[in-house]
Amino acid sequence: MTEQAAEPTTAIIETLARLRENYNAGLTRSAAWRDNQLLALSRMLTDNSGVFESALQRDLGKSPVEGILTEIGFLLSEIDHTRSQLGKWMRPRRVMPSVALLPASAKVIREPLGAALIIAPWNYPLMLALSPLVGAIAAGNVAVVKPSELAPNVSAALAKILPTYLDHRAFAVIEGGVEETTELLEQRWDSIFYTGNGAVGRIVMTAAAQHLTPVTLELGGKSPAYVDDTSDLRQVAQRLAWGKFLNAGQTCVAPDYVLATRPVIDRLVPMLAEAIRDLFGTSIQQNPDYGRIINTRHTERLAGLLSSGRIAIGGTVDRDDRYIEPTVLTDVSRDSDIMASEIFGPLLPLIEVTGLDDAINYVRGGDKPLALYVFSESNRARDRWANETSSGGLAFGIPMAHLMVSGLPFGGVGESGMGAYHGERSFLTFSHEKAVLSKPLTPDTLRATIMPPYTAQKEAI
Ligand code: NAD
Repeated sequence: MTEQAAEPTTAIIETLARLRENYNAGLTRSAAWRDNQLLALSRMLTDNSGVFESALQRDLGKSPVEGILTEIGFLLSEIDHTRSQLGKWMRPRRVMPSVALLPASAKVIREPLGAALIIAPWNYPLMLALSPLVGAIAAGNVAVVKPSELAPNVSAALAKILPTYLDHRAFAVIEGGVEETTELLEQRWDSIFYTGNGAVGRIVMTAAAQHLTPVTLELGGKSPAYVDDTSDLRQVAQRLAWGKFLNAGQTCVAPDYVLATRPVIDRLVPMLAEAIRDLFGTSIQQNPDYGRIINTRHTERLAGLLSSGRIAIGGTVDRDDRYIEPTVLTDVSRDSDIMASEIFGPLLPLIEVTGLDDAINYVRGGDKPLALYVFSESNRARDRWANETSSGGLAFGIPMAHLMVSGLPFGGVGESGMGAYHGERSFLTFSHEKAVLSKPLTPDTLRATIMPPYTAQKEAI
């Protein structure tokens, strides 16, 4: 190993050792300290909102308003909610002991897991790095955050600003790409929270297995939208266009493709064109509300998918500007390239189905999606989707917004991930629920209940 390669490893080992030492000394235990750290995180976001907005703009062409709505504001309300519930979440839960053990008391204590590693992706680079951190702090963990190297401006801003607000004895940001993440994953953590693609998810899980570390994998995949003729298609078009083209389609829960019958597709296309005009006007490339593709590699990948069908709307690509126009494709075959994996860009294929059975069977034939969207006023259709398919989340009438409801666990199932977070679920993700039983030594009831000699009466207990 070269001198240069050895350096980051030492820094990583030292950082983790320092955090662990402080954790073991009890630094993170009190509710007051946790609340203070959450407040500090909230102050960090408000004081530096401009810095983060401009970093998001440089990395993803994200408009400042969108940066506030989908990242900074989202985090602030999550922090507020967490602070307001923290006392309740931290309280032990009393449980009734079995009669044979009485007198006794039983409770569940929610204790922190210890040292957490949070690995974030580039698409919502601030929100997806800090939202899990809110849970880790609330649950009393120390943590290292590893932002995505593909969003270098947000990564650098976090590395510079976070340590000036949060207690550096408990939290650190370590920047880097594959090499640094590999080194981080070689360490023993008490929790690993990874958001990104499934290929790296497998690497993370393999590394975690060496230490039997629990993992949360927030992955992606193809999230379908089903549209039938019972819905107001103009509204559906507007919501689909918003969900698909937000962040230039680079949202894990964006509707990946639409399943509809031919007549519905024919009516939907002009309405989608109108919805795109309503959202972004006619000079979309000049509109600051419309984002950019993260890098040239992904722009090329997406441009290559345009030939998977007939371009019904859009289709313009400006590689130098990493711009891809909001695009709708029709006449897309189910075995075309665009249907082979998550699109993760502003291309919306409309896939023809013969009806509800065909649509459900198609979705069931693929990996379990992160989200499933159903646009139908038919209760029977809604029930069938709910009962006959499995997905991380299911929403009727609106894409993506389920992740804004803090009472709903957010996560995938199967290929779209394991574990969940948001609200109390984040707290639980970074906690161990410890079973605690307490039985007084007197009176001595056990000889009459569960201890030998075994008499016929004891069988009934
Ligand atoms: P990415 O390339 O930024 O990778 C994610 C993280 O993994 C980064 O921090 C990166 O440094 C690290 N990484 C990459 N290669 C690695 C390797 N070989 N070993 C160790 N670490 C490595 O982001 P991405 O994976 O392109 O993100 C997009 C994917 O994430 C999409 O599939 C999307 O659906 C999914 N996603 C899921 C959610 C969710 O909440 N479920 C949210 C956002 C994105």
